[in-house]
Amino acid sequence: MRWTALLLLAMVLWQSCYSQNNPQKPQAMENDKTKKNPVYSRTDSAKVVMKDDDWKKILAPDVYYIARQKGTERPFTSPFETLKEVGTYYCAVCGNPLFKSDTKFESGCGWPSFYEPISKSSIIYLPDNSLGMQRTEVECGRCKSHLGHVFDDGPPPTGLRYCINGVVLDFEKAKTAEKKYKEGKGSE
Ligand SMILES: [Zn+2]
Repeated sequence: MRWTALLLLAMVLWQSCYSQNNPQKPQAMENDKTKKNPVYSRTDSAKVVMKDDDWKKILAPDVYYIARQKGTERPFTSPFETLKEVGTYYCAVCGNPLFKSDTKFESGCGWPSFYEPISKSSIIYLPDNSLGMQRTEVECGRCKSHLGHVFDDGPPPTGLRYCINGVVLDFEKAKTAEKKYKEGKGSE
């Protein structure tokens, strides 16, 4: 008699645990964006060269428009513009690490702004004389995707402002920062 009661209890507990652990999780947007992109890697630094048609097949339309057709997103539309989380910004096209959050600043220009890239090889610089302006275009150092422009009105120590389209950025929160926060020491 006791056995049956115990067994029943165990079954009820198991069932409630089971159903609690299996709610349908919404799919992460980031995964959707990079799912069918075979060149995306945060560790491989080999240069990526691909035909425009192939880019079109593997990139989301908004990413393709900015990265491969040198488009510009509307100002104040990127959630990254005001993001203050600690972590790393990657190229959304190929996964190349581009900027650390500690070089991000509020420029008020409407696009995510940084004063320094992670390394010299993160970025390629090209003169851009379109729209009757003399600007310097910045491209991803690994896949040559258009990211935005760099201007010389940024804050110290570099005096530079990398004005980057949020659509072509991926963000990963720093794991140590998350741990610190959970331990209640995240007020730094
Ligand atoms: Zn890239």
